[in-house]
Amino acid sequence: MFVFFCLFECQFFRKLTENYQEILDRLQAKLESLPNGVHIRCRMGVSPQVEGVSLSSQFDRAKTACNMVRGNFKNNLVIYDEQMHDREIHAQRLINDVEKAAEERQFIVYYQPKYDIQVNPPRLRSAEALIRWRHPEFGMISPGEFIPLFEGNGLIHVVDDFVWKEASRQIAEWKTKYGFTVPVSVNLSRADIFDPPLEQNLLDLVSKNNLTTADLLLEVTESAYTDDADQLIAIVQKLRNHGFHIEMDDFGSGYSSLNMLSSLPIDALKMDMKFIQNVHRDNKEFRLIELILDIAEYLGVPVIAEGVEDEEQLGLLKNAGCDIVQGYYFSRPVPPEEFELLIQKEYELRQKELEK
Ligand code: C2E
Ligand code: CA
Ligand code: CA
Repeated sequence: MFVFFCLFECQFFRKLTENYQEILDRLQAKLESLPNGVHIRCRMGVSPQVEGVSLSSQFDRAKTACNMVRGNFKNNLVIYDEQMHDREIHAQRLINDVEKAAEERQFIVYYQPKYDIQVNPPRLRSAEALIRWRHPEFGMISPGEFIPLFEGNGLIHVVDDFVWKEASRQIAEWKTKYGFTVPVSVNLSRADIFDPPLEQNLLDLVSKNNLTTADLLLEVTESAYTDDADQLIAIVQKLRNHGFHIEMDDFGSGYSSLNMLSSLPIDALKMDMKFIQNVHRDNKEFRLIELILDIAEYLGVPVIAEGVEDEEQLGLLKNAGCDIVQGYYFSRPVPPEEFELLIQKEYELRQKELEK
């Protein structure tokens, strides 16, 4: 059990003690000595007194500091500081600006190719749509800065709605121009998945753009499957019944049990980048990759290795039997004009094959 404890500093407290850790330790010791044997862990956030800041803001700041301790088992006390304040101001700016960013198309969808490496030369098979934000004041902002923020407050819908619409329009444009589809995957956050209109929204997008459901791939991160697994599986299964292909993202970073895996409705496993980043022949990561490939074989789905940056990694994955690779080795995520050059290359290869 956790108890959180916010403290906003006032003159009275300052006189009582300068040492917040001591207060916390004393409280923790008291709770641990309670006779019922319940384990309670306290955390504390402190907001130093600042002239002109209201009591309720002081409380919010202490709470923010306190929330930073969450999940940290070494440290249980945080004091709100200038850096935290600046981060909060920045986050609030991004929150205020998100609707306008979508309206003014400050968001740009980049595409990163996925290559089939079991053929020679490797061939372009699909891509992943990844958002970028060209902010008029802050310049290019990477998704790591705003996606977790918007996932936490529901604004992720604004971002994902933009990406899904733009990616669908773009797939259709290329399909018409080149006569074949390069399927593009979009990321689905947990909040998207539990949004009741999701199924209809995706079906509308596909039909509006004259696509098939197989043209728009859906990535669901493994960690989304951990809570409410049954409900999530039912939603994902419905999408699959319509013909959408589901790629399980960041596989190996979450907590899927082997038992649960065999009942999951998925069409591909995207292996978490951390396995690839540290892989060398016969080391622990290599054996884990082999294990993931075995699991995928058992499930009858291909494996996509993400984060492949060099020849050694590519060679190891190819020899181990990995099917698809995405990573800087082939290309970074690039704007649509640049990605189209890769489609052109694939188009030329297909034309040559037809001539044979
Ligand atoms: P992700 O879905 O796991 O996407 C893969 C990330 O790995 C991307 O980061 C990509 O640029 C990066 N990456 C690809 N190849 C390599 C490589 O070889 N080396 C290294 N070091 N990195 C590589 P990015 O674009 O910064 O996106 C970060 C995360 O933000 C994504 O992780 C995804 O969770 C989220 N995200 C991005 N776009 C969207 C979106 O439109 N909607 C949602 N809901 N989330 C998004
Ligand atoms: Ca992804
Ligand atoms: Ca991933």
